[in-house]
Amino acid sequence: PGGQPEAEERDGGPAGSPASMEPLLVVRGVERSFDVGSQKLRVLKGIDLELKPQQLVMLKGRSGSGKTTLMNLMGGLDVPTQGQIYFRGQPFHEWDDNRRTKIRRKDIGFIFQAYALMPLLSAYENVELTMRMAGVPRSQWKARATECLEMVGLAKRMHHRPFELSGGEQQRVAIAKAISHRPSLILADEPTAELDSQMAAQVMAVFREIVATENISICMTTHDTTIMEVADHVYEMVDGVFV
Ligand code: ADP
Repeated sequence: PGGQPEAEERDGGPAGSPASMEPLLVVRGVERSFDVGSQKLRVLKGIDLELKPQQLVMLKGRSGSGKTTLMNLMGGLDVPTQGQIYFRGQPFHEWDDNRRTKIRRKDIGFIFQAYALMPLLSAYENVELTMRMAGVPRSQWKARATECLEMVGLAKRMHHRPFELSGGEQQRVAIAKAISHRPSLILADEPTAELDSQMAAQVMAVFREIVATENISICMTTHDTTIMEVADHVYEMVDGVFV
């Protein structure tokens, strides 16, 4: 009573081993090819990656090296041509679209570069919308949306609409949205790309804090070498492989 909302079965690990020791996400030998005309374009050529709870990892690499393709696989938006992806020990790569979508809504938060906040909704309403979509009970919306916006330093801007906020503030609304339904994984594609260095540092500070306090793991792509020291691990992708 009063504990875990749901006891997930977890594969692997001896009984009683702390959940925090088990990886949240395992990518093993993953390849992804696309048919382009009569050609096969090999984009990912054997990727291995492990993301543990409360880890913040970064993917760097030139444009076109395959980072977004990998993130789409990690988030269950796509399935690999070869290899395996385990999310909480469950074989994501074997699941149909419906099942992946369910997990995605509930347990994964996405932050994209040009994050489309709903322009007519306030910051607060934008966060509420994410919770509604994720199936969070209505009774929790107000307290949780407020809490998330406070966490990203927007307590005083909650009722502003996106156009009344700076780029950095909009990005922080996007973060508040992404954490609002308490996912265990956040995938962020170039979350600091459009921010100046001070705002980028602020966003990274928020990331570090939510990794610690909200028990969230983050995988993000970036080109920005100045923020890389914040990561627990940086993977560099060149032409579909990590170097
Ligand atoms: P990055 O995020 O590192 O810039 P991407 O993963 O977006 O790289 O793209 C890697 C390569 O895969 C690019 O050459 C891109 O054109 C190609 N690619 C990505 N998705 C598709 C697709 N659905 N169909 C065909 N080619 C794709």
